[in-house]
Amino acid sequence: MDPRIGVYICHCGLNIAQTVDVKKVGEYVKNLKNVVVVRDYPYMCSDPGQELIKNDIKEYSLTNVIVAACSPTMHEQTFRRACSTAGLNPYLMQMVNIREHCSWVTDDVEKATEKAKLLISAAVNRVVYHEPLEKLQIPIEQSALIIGGGIAGIEAALKIANSGKKVYLVEKSPSIGGRMAQLEKTFPTLDCASCILTPKMVEVASNPNIILLTYSEVKEVSGFPGNYTVKIVKKPRYIDENKCIGCGICATKCPVKVPDEFNLGLDYRKAVYIPFPQAVPRKYTIDREHCLFFTKGVCRVCERFCPSKAVNFEQQPEEIVIKVGVVILATGYDIFDPSVIKSYGYGRYKNVYTGLEVERILSASGPTKGKPVLRDGRVPKTIAIVHCVGSRDERYNSYCSKICCMYAMKLAHLLKERIPDSTIYEFYIDIRAAGKGYEEFYRRVQEEGVIFIRGKVSEIYEKEDGKLLVTFEDTLLGVVQTIEVDMVILATGIVPRSDAKDLVRKFGICSSADGFFMEKHPKLAPVSTVNRGVFIAGACQGPKDIPESVAQAAAAASEAMVLLSQSTLEVEPIIAEVQQEKCSGCRICVSVCPYGATIYDSEKNATRVEKALCQGCGTCVAACPSGARVMKQNGFTDRQILAELEGILIPLKPRIKIEVTSTG
Ligand SMILES: Cc1cc2nc3c(=O)[nH]c(=O)nc-3n(C[C@H](O)[C@H](O)[C@H](O)COP(=O)(O)OP(=O)(O)OC[C@H]3O[C@@H](n4cnc5c(N)ncnc54)[C@H](O)[C@@H]3O)c2cc1C
Repeated sequence: MDPRIGVYICHCGLNIAQTVDVKKVGEYVKNLKNVVVVRDYPYMCSDPGQELIKNDIKEYSLTNVIVAACSPTMHEQTFRRACSTAGLNPYLMQMVNIREHCSWVTDDVEKATEKAKLLISAAVNRVVYHEPLEKLQIPIEQSALIIGGGIAGIEAALKIANSGKKVYLVEKSPSIGGRMAQLEKTFPTLDCASCILTPKMVEVASNPNIILLTYSEVKEVSGFPGNYTVKIVKKPRYIDENKCIGCGICATKCPVKVPDEFNLGLDYRKAVYIPFPQAVPRKYTIDREHCLFFTKGVCRVCERFCPSKAVNFEQQPEEIVIKVGVVILATGYDIFDPSVIKSYGYGRYKNVYTGLEVERILSASGPTKGKPVLRDGRVPKTIAIVHCVGSRDERYNSYCSKICCMYAMKLAHLLKERIPDSTIYEFYIDIRAAGKGYEEFYRRVQEEGVIFIRGKVSEIYEKEDGKLLVTFEDTLLGVVQTIEVDMVILATGIVPRSDAKDLVRKFGICSSADGFFMEKHPKLAPVSTVNRGVFIAGACQGPKDIPESVAQAAAAASEAMVLLSQSTLEVEPIIAEVQQEKCSGCRICVSVCPYGATIYDSEKNATRVEKALCQGCGTCVAACPSGARVMKQNGFTDRQILAELEGILIPLKPRIKIEVTSTG
């Protein structure tokens, strides 16, 4: 039977019709070979527009449909569904983009109209070579992996577990909690951070659907959406988690003191430790690097005093292999290292602190038990808080870290509360207080007497008595000034985790130019990634406060649950195919495939495509020197592409004087 093609031209309101003369295009198209019906409509994607297509498929027994409208990323699925409802295989439909490719790129009606004619002519030529395809069905493993046990990972884990699905929560440090566990109070409501975080941490530990793997990291990932195999390495704590009762006798007896990383080195912990009092799990860990038994072969005092015989110096790293259907990355952020800004003297001047250090100082479980004192025990009376340290600065990071203005004001409030006679200056570029209740908090802090100076600090200088001279330009007064203070707090920005690139590679996702994980679409798919089974939540995607991290975690959990609620995953059949008899086994395709979808079969000395992983990008097809790879029948076989070129070039032939021969 000869092909019978229907062509549907969309006006997209005036988006297309203002620049492309759709009537003229229609007149031209109706004379093209195999075209039996041509229609134009103001909004082809609307219900009536789709009805036109559906009715014509039946009435004219169409074998192919062409929709000339917007980008296929917007509505290809819409029109595929319309065709499918009317009984036509959806892959026999071809979209032509006459909006982004014609009307939006010129004001010249004549040229845009001519180009639209040619693009449709090309589609008419190629669509007859389309073949009906069926979507692949891949079974979905009914469990989720969440990497990172900060507030985002915790929230996502609880949401999924409470829906009845199994969750593996992998946290690299000995306890879950993330940065939020280090905070004293949270802006703008000033809730005590541990009071709202601890119940959630405890809920994670007691939820029967959550398997908590702390002190663990992902080593390898293979598989595809719906079906990942993940190798996790659980580092040895040298304490049997099943036996440890968290009594802490081991730490009391341990003779070794080590700078405490949870308190950012502001005090000491023992070589056997829990990171903070509310840690979950409340299981002790022996720090192999500092333990006297591991470094000098002596001591073992913890082993001697442990009432539950939990100490086990023989423990080895344990490899755990799990199968999951979806993954949520919630690995958070690192703090910008301010010591690279030499003029601020961080790391050299003892009274220059970061914001996070001050959070710890103000915390009841912190190094000074909440007393606002400097390293030498003095209470600071004049304090300068410097905003945008490492953020909004081309030399370091051009992006805004978003949380620093607010936490800088929170610290000013807390310090003023604890040292009422103090004078606090905030040096800012502009104040960014755009969340709910944030502007009100800004006003409150101003009313409490905190002095806001618009201007950047150029230099901090330490005097012999430990006091600090802060030089700045007041950009409202237009003067350069120097003030003397007891303490400087640097509101450092946030940066991607140091291992972010490694995770990007392992999970086949992308990162943005700033190094944070990249979402699939900034507006329409903010928690999805290019890997259909991998989602992102919290500050690993970019600077975020707690409310935003929690909201994003809930969104990622619900996206993940949409996948997990199905027993099989539909996969587009638009994938590469190998003609193994032509394959020379050179494996160039293996090295270029960004999705790990090309597998070398040594017995056959040929490659094959893992259907569920292939995203149909065509990189392997272009790279294959033997022409053994083709894009499966979706419009990218040589025959289809040459037919398309013909459709464009033949009408132009008189003008560009070239000969085109069909290869069929
Ligand atoms: C000084 C300061 C004060 C702040 N104050 C406030 C405030 O008052 N209010 C507010 O709303 N926000 C505040 N914030 C922001 C808040 O800290 C973040 O919004 C929040 O911590 C983001 O949570 P998260 O889970 O995305 O990341 P994180 O808290 O960073 O947690 C990530 C977790 O993932 C783990 N992890 C990382 N890599 C891996 C890996 N490869 N494998 C396994 N685990 C991994 C980490 O160990 C960590 O436990 C403040 C931030 C700072 C710096």
